[in-house]
Amino acid sequence: MTELATRRPSAPAEADWSAAVAVIRELAPAGRVLLICHVNPDGDALGSMLGFALGLRQLGVTRMQATFPGVFDVPEPFAELPGVDLLVPEAEVWADPELVITFDAAAASRLGALADRLSRARGTVVLDHHASNAGFGGVNLVDPQAAATSVVAEELLARLGVPLDAAIAECLYVALATDTGSFKFDMTTPRVHEMAARLIATGLRPGEISRRTFDTRPFEAVKLFAEVLARAELDPAAAAGHGLVSTYVTQDDLARHGQRAYVMDALIDPVRTVAEADVAVLVKQIGEQTWAVSLRSKGAVDVSGVAVALGGGGHRLAAGYTGHGTPAEIVAAVRSLVPDHLLSPS
Ligand code: AMP
Ligand code: MN
Ligand code: MN
Repeated sequence: MTELATRRPSAPAEADWSAAVAVIRELAPAGRVLLICHVNPDGDALGSMLGFALGLRQLGVTRMQATFPGVFDVPEPFAELPGVDLLVPEAEVWADPELVITFDAAAASRLGALADRLSRARGTVVLDHHASNAGFGGVNLVDPQAAATSVVAEELLARLGVPLDAAIAECLYVALATDTGSFKFDMTTPRVHEMAARLIATGLRPGEISRRTFDTRPFEAVKLFAEVLARAELDPAAAAGHGLVSTYVTQDDLARHGQRAYVMDALIDPVRTVAEADVAVLVKQIGEQTWAVSLRSKGAVDVSGVAVALGGGGHRLAAGYTGHGTPAEIVAAVRSLVPDHLLSPS
């Protein structure tokens, strides 16, 4: 109750929560329920979706698919999440489910080819926490103050009368830990720690979950990291003197080390530790001339503004987009836009 009283105005309205509960109660028991999270899913996308799926299962929902667009490659750190048995590849997804619920996707485009299911369903509910989310569902539960989509998922489960069990909690915890950088970022509010406390109280082992999710990778992946970090470049003059560090990782790098694509995602973390740079850029090859670009700032730059200008999105200090050309061209494009998105005068 106090939580409701102190929630900021941009959080979902009471009417939105009620509408979400109503449409789920109406359609989920008898209809086919399709849960979709964003392409190239991270811990929040998969964790909030699978945690919610397990909650629906507790309510007796049996006809349910959970999925994400594109190549069906579940990153190894999430391969043991409870509820992964519900995951189906894009090709097997029902053409016309009655209810669609999306997770951690700021726009329908983040659902790839599965976005068409939104228009075919009788009901759609969007769960998200990106400020840029304009609300592409019938019911939109978008809370830009929430540290992760799993915060929204936990509240909706509570309003549906689903008690937390250890399996649901593990999924929601992985999601929360992922998006807060293991409870290190500024959005790690009292509300985040209160939620973590509720989740851990179900019997979770945070050490084991963190090790499995963030601190485990194959030996060859470590060798790959060494190569990619060795080719990092520092541009101290960029971002009005706040500095920019960048590096890239190619499909050939992955092949030489026998690694899967997901290992590239964790590389942004060592890159963004560089003291001399506010902005970190990681350019990850996903096609011949196509790259997934990760942007991070320590506070001087609104990198979501940079990402949006280049066709992507994200949060103020963590954003991304799909880039084309060479890594050098991509870094140059980012570098030229950064001065337009400074958060404080230099
Ligand atoms: P990443 O660098 O992949 O960890 O993504 C950081 C943030 O940027 C996340 O909030 C993503 O949702 C967002 N993001 C990444 N890539 C894209 C994209 N191509 N379009 C829109 N948002 C993105
Ligand atoms: Mn995400
Ligand atoms: Mn998220």
